[in-house]
Amino acid sequence: MTRGQRVLDVVIVGAGAVGACLSHALSARGFEVGVVDAETGDERASIRTSALSRASLRHLSDLGLWPLEGVEPAPLRALQILDRDGRGRLRFDSADVGEEDLGAIVNHGLLEAALRKKARALGGLWVRERGEGVVIDDSGVEVVTKGGRRLRARLLIAADGAQSAIREQLGVPVVQYRYGQTAVCADMRLGNAHEGVAWQRFLANGPCALLPLPDAHRASLIWSATDQEAAHLRALSDASFARALHEAFGDHLGPLRVEGERAYFPLVAAHARHYTGSRFALVGDAAHRVHPLAGQGVNLGLADAHTLTKTLQSARSHSADPGSRRVLRAYERERKAENLAMLLATDLLNRAFRTDRAWVRTILGAGLNVTDTLPLLKTFFMGAAGATIPRLTHDAL
Ligand SMILES: Cc1cc2nc3c(=O)[nH]c(=O)nc-3n(C[C@H](O)[C@H](O)[C@H](O)COP(=O)(O)OP(=O)(O)OC[C@H]3O[C@@H](n4cnc5c(N)ncnc54)[C@H](O)[C@@H]3O)c2cc1C
Repeated sequence: MTRGQRVLDVVIVGAGAVGACLSHALSARGFEVGVVDAETGDERASIRTSALSRASLRHLSDLGLWPLEGVEPAPLRALQILDRDGRGRLRFDSADVGEEDLGAIVNHGLLEAALRKKARALGGLWVRERGEGVVIDDSGVEVVTKGGRRLRARLLIAADGAQSAIREQLGVPVVQYRYGQTAVCADMRLGNAHEGVAWQRFLANGPCALLPLPDAHRASLIWSATDQEAAHLRALSDASFARALHEAFGDHLGPLRVEGERAYFPLVAAHARHYTGSRFALVGDAAHRVHPLAGQGVNLGLADAHTLTKTLQSARSHSADPGSRRVLRAYERERKAENLAMLLATDLLNRAFRTDRAWVRTILGAGLNVTDTLPLLKTFFMGAAGATIPRLTHDAL
């Protein structure tokens, strides 16, 4: 530490949705926060959406971050799930949990930009550079940026996403699995109005979802295909792509048309061996990465941010050091179980619906209709949306 160097409470590396939200939450509670993010952006972020659960909307609202200027949400009124053989059909309605909606679909690029703007408005020290180096000693941690700036704090939070350079610097091991699938994303124009319903069909190569957008005839596509199939889809013209999608998904929303560009995301499940250590904590995709079939990545990250904020607030009220292992372990304990459960559940569903074993598919198809046989599905798709397990309506195709 150099003499006279300012010591912040927290330095956050990465201001995606999770880092920005955390920075806002901590600044609002009087923590001295530094944020390091090059803000170079991923242009693909505006070609996809995020489904925000009711729990996330509640957290954001408690922080004064919802509604969010610059973000037009599409309310999610219901979720319609279909299996690949057309045997099973399952529907969750917001009315089943006594709510107006199950959450909201938002443009991911706009969400990130709006959260960052709100966080910046609360002040703090923002450095528009990449964080590259980390030096930890007994009393604090120093982050060194690409341009050679040094930020010192009592706690470092890595919110720098799935490829976290900070996690690597910290030497935290990661268990990673490549699905061999790529999510193909695009905005689609629909022949029929979506009426606030998100559709998800489990196809032979992965799930294919059409999520409602604010325009009643527009939906956001997330089609998880094998890498090979995705490469084939990439080579198609918009018209041929739309026909291929219509054939795979079915005629539930009428004829489909691509609007704007398509984007491609290789899918990976990953989990850091630990989320915390002396003077550091990992949040969001830097700690865990799940299959997007249940739209939970941001939601889990926002829950990390919420729990870590509570943990640090409680530490401060007991005059405890925010960077101590003991304090940070409480955060890790609380979040690890839920994140791991979601990782495993998404993985299991992705595999189960893709299986070629006819007997498994028959059971799954029946399970979608006889809803009580699949309590996992109920809690899984609805758990984040509301605490109550809904009464489900079901009908055969
Ligand atoms: C196709 C697809 C669909 C998805 N759909 C949903 C959904 O519907 N709902 C949902 O909840 N989740 C969804 N997710 C997951 C979700 O997008 C991620 O979980 C979420 O964006 C992670 O946020 P984050 O802030 O942790 O990381 P990121 O969004 O990756 O942000 C990391 C930030 O760190 C910055 N950064 C990186 N390295 C450095 C560095 N060295 N120094 C400084 N800054 C750095 C980056 O510029 C970026 O701003 C989806 C994911 C995919 C791929």
